[in-house]
Amino acid sequence: MWSLGGWLKRRTLARHPVPDELWARVRQRLPILDGLSAEEDQRLRDCCVLFLQDKTLTALDGVNLDDESRLFLAAQAQLPLLALGDLNWYQGFHEIVLYPDDFISPQKHRDASGIEHEWDGEHSGEAWSQGPVILAWAGVLSSGGWEGYNLVIHELAHKLDMLNGDANGMPPLHQGMAVKQWTDAMQSAFDDLNRQLDADPDAETAIDPYAAEDPGEFFAVTSEYFFSAPDVLAQAYPAVYQQLSAFYRQDTLGRLTALQQQNPVYQAHTNV
Ligand code: ZN
Repeated sequence: MWSLGGWLKRRTLARHPVPDELWARVRQRLPILDGLSAEEDQRLRDCCVLFLQDKTLTALDGVNLDDESRLFLAAQAQLPLLALGDLNWYQGFHEIVLYPDDFISPQKHRDASGIEHEWDGEHSGEAWSQGPVILAWAGVLSSGGWEGYNLVIHELAHKLDMLNGDANGMPPLHQGMAVKQWTDAMQSAFDDLNRQLDADPDAETAIDPYAAEDPGEFFAVTSEYFFSAPDVLAQAYPAVYQQLSAFYRQDTLGRLTALQQQNPVYQAHTNV
């Protein structure tokens, strides 16, 4: 069927080809893309071009945003969407602002007794509803390995969460996914993490204790682990891994396990 969208996409892709050697350099810096099939790799590459045409990247002083940097960011932004089809999942923002390093921003929190607290917080990223995504470039550069940390995926998970309202830890689920299963899996893992931290604030938790802040952070942090340390997540909270696998429609644990079986570098380095 003739489609204007399809024609525009093909024209955009034809006008902005990604040179092979540039893509190879970006791939080298992003181990979390290892193990993608050739077809997935090509799809991701195309999605990066469309993403960079669609969004404005604003770099503040101190951020050198060359073609390789732009692709490095785009590939991490597009990995979560790789199997989600053509829906415009990042419709909630037009701009990504890149700070050179962590930044201070005013924070507000209303506690259970209704008292509002305000303080200045140091942040490496922010995603405001109806606003841009803000990322500290230093944090972006530290992302991309299988280490349970990915600033880009974290902030963009908040944007997916906000597609159906506040960042409350539940993005719009696909048909066939059960809200109750999602909620049960997330809530019991969230409660477990909070129980450990209540008992000992310095407890060595399996995943970053920041996930215990609120359900929105739990979804963002576990999304980071889903793409960058699925073995840790699946071991600690298998039901959360399953729900995220159903949502993102990817089997990152299967991809990592295959790499660990086939690739000596991965045999030497496992998270669990
Ligand atoms: Zn967050």
